[in-house]
Formats: sequence, structure tokens, C-alpha cells
Amino acid sequence: MDKYYCPYCNPKYQFQKQSSKGTYICGLCGEDLIKKPFIRLNQIIALVAASSLLLPLIYTFIFLIKNQINPPNKNYQANSTLIINIKETIS
Ligand SMILES: [Zn+2]
Repeated sequence: MDKYYCPYCNPKYQFQKQSSKGTYICGLCGEDLIKKPFIRLNQIIALVAASSLLLPLIYTFIFLIKNQINPPNKNYQANSTLIINIKETIS
């Protein structure tokens, strides 16, 4: 059971004991053990923060690759021909 840990003792030396109440306590200091999901929540927050920094970089990277495959000049030409066609249909 590695789901619980003692916040006061060194993780290398701490061991778990089950108290008479049925709850897990630290074998060294006797304090109640804390569930690890609190750390996982922090890890998720850290992951979100890291991804919020990385996503714009990934997005710009994809945008640069797209521009290299389809240069913006071609798009401009396509738009200009479309405008000409619209002008012709109007007049
Ligand atoms: Zn302890």
C-alpha cells in the first residue's frame, strides 16, 4: 500500500502501521498518514500549466509546417481569382 505517506518523516525510512481504529499511521512518529492523491492533483495542475506553455509552441510549429506545404502566396492568388469571379458575376 503506497497510497499513504507521512508528511513528517523521510520517505525512505517510513513504514506503515495500522492503528487500533483501522486507520493507517506512520510507524516512526505515529502521525496519521495522508493519501497521495493530493500530490497527484498537484501533478495534474503542473501538467496543465506545462501544456498551456507548450500548446502555443506546438500550434506555431504546426502553422509553420502548414505554411511550408501551402505557401500563403497560393492562397492569395486563389482569393484574388475568387474576387475576380465574383466581380464578373456582379457585372
Ligand atoms: Zn512519520
